[in-house]
Amino acid sequence: MTDITADGQARTAAAGSNPAAPGGGRTVASAVTPAVIARLARGVTADGEGGTADTIAPLTGETLATLPLSTPADVERAFQVARRAQPAWAALPVRRRAAVLLRFHDLLLRRQDEVLDLIQAETGKARLHAFEEVMAVASAARHYGHRAASYLRDRRRGGAIPGLTSAVEARRPKGVIGQISPWNYPFELSVGDALPAFVAGNAVVNKPDTQTALTALWARELFIEAGLPAEVWQIVLGDGPVVGPAVVDRADYVAFTGSTRTGREVAQKAAARLVGASLELGGKNAMLVLADADLDRAAEGAVRACFSSAGQLCISIERLFVHRSVAEDFLARFAERTAALRLGGGLAYGADMGSLVSPRQLETVGRHVDEAVKAGATVVTGGRARPDLGPLFYEPTILDGVTPEMAVCAEETFGPVVSIYRFDTDDEAVTAANATPYGLNSSVWTRNLRRGRAVAARLHTGTVNVNEAYAAAYGSVASPMGGMGDSGLGRRHGAEGILRYTEAQTVAVQRLLPIGPSMGMDDEKFARLFTTGLKAMKAFRLK
Ligand code: NAD
Repeated sequence: MTDITADGQARTAAAGSNPAAPGGGRTVASAVTPAVIARLARGVTADGEGGTADTIAPLTGETLATLPLSTPADVERAFQVARRAQPAWAALPVRRRAAVLLRFHDLLLRRQDEVLDLIQAETGKARLHAFEEVMAVASAARHYGHRAASYLRDRRRGGAIPGLTSAVEARRPKGVIGQISPWNYPFELSVGDALPAFVAGNAVVNKPDTQTALTALWARELFIEAGLPAEVWQIVLGDGPVVGPAVVDRADYVAFTGSTRTGREVAQKAAARLVGASLELGGKNAMLVLADADLDRAAEGAVRACFSSAGQLCISIERLFVHRSVAEDFLARFAERTAALRLGGGLAYGADMGSLVSPRQLETVGRHVDEAVKAGATVVTGGRARPDLGPLFYEPTILDGVTPEMAVCAEETFGPVVSIYRFDTDDEAVTAANATPYGLNSSVWTRNLRRGRAVAARLHTGTVNVNEAYAAAYGSVASPMGGMGDSGLGRRHGAEGILRYTEAQTVAVQRLLPIGPSMGMDDEKFARLFTTGLKAMKAFRLK
């Protein structure tokens, strides 16, 4: 079966024998025209010296765009422009900056189809999974648009001496944030982390992955339409190991999302400069199906947990632990749903899973599966590439009998592959789930919510979803989201997600008497008086 049409559009087709889903009549080429690409490419800070790079449309393997690349000198210029613009932006009342976020929210929901096309064209993911990015960005824009003033307001604190000292904790913007983002969720990971930086009064120099730069450039354009001064958001492009460090070298704070390996390099560079960094890194996330789980809901949730964006999702589940008493029953339901997923790449809703993003991703996924099978694992469903659908399609795959010496057991595959393990007690499941240096996300399924919360408390991950895959925690944008261990440092979302972009400044005012001997009092008398004062403050439970 060949599903690439003459004009290069990948059609939707079934993973198993179920009928093909609707693919829609639009093609990547008709949606992302040369005029659109040329307009967006003007948003890159690059003077032409850095050359160009081609990106591909993963759905077809054809060239999508030729984009200008930035040199380190361009990065320097981007920082200079951003640095000049930042003070005036920071001087606006926070409500004016928040209004830009709220206008961006409305524009985005109105014009979402434009960015859904770009995300699909650049990543090859299914439209529903592209829409998850719109959901995430709109939620963050709404949250910080409404809550930023309260997160950032001055807070009165207890002074050194009651009545004589008053203290206020203020939040000042860091300045220019260096933001480095990967290709897998190009809209959410470029914009979601920039929103709180902007509303806190910072400028941003963003280096998205070149493969998915059009999506970030579109977002910048929409932000400018919503009222953001153009200079406040700079976008530079280029080779990660060259342009990435040039950004880290100049930033007042670094917001990095990507692999653990690169994250360590970024952290070392930031540490040497004594600038802070948030690091959102990889994972090898676990799902636990307890003995009392609703197996239909769990099987349906597992499909989303493992195969959203073809598993190229940092919080995706790659290890699935099932209680032995329900394992075969659960596996039958999960495998049936997985085999029925409709693979496809039309620029329309209808496909359940799209393509992988790059030949490198396809190679890793194929290698992890093939090596495991060679070493004795069994394929429950999937387990092969689908060149008949497009050059980078791979079937959603469930493996059983995976053992520790197989790469797929402990390494992040970052693809549509999950391994099944059985357990006998909750303790055993928790120990196995925690037996990884990563600690990003996990998912627990049980009918007993108290038990679910108790298990959650013992899992070493930054987020735990009870009876959901990942969207419950990720979508709760008022709560922090991030990783423990090798999955990172710092958090996005909630208070931490915005306060990371600020410096705390304490302004204390002293009235009437100084904090030291005064009015002829000698040192000893002062010490005695202050000792009495300290005792009194404790007695009156001053904090
Ligand atoms: P990557 O680390 O290769 O690249 C990420 C970004 O860093 C890219 O923009 C890249 O150009 C840039 N980069 C590369 N080398 C650099 C260097 N030396 N200095 C500075 N920047 C450099 O990661 P990837 O393969 O593009 O993305 C997939 C990884 O990202 C997976 O491991 C995934 O789990 C992780 N991820 C994590 C989260 C999260 O929130 N925790 C979200 C999405 C993806």
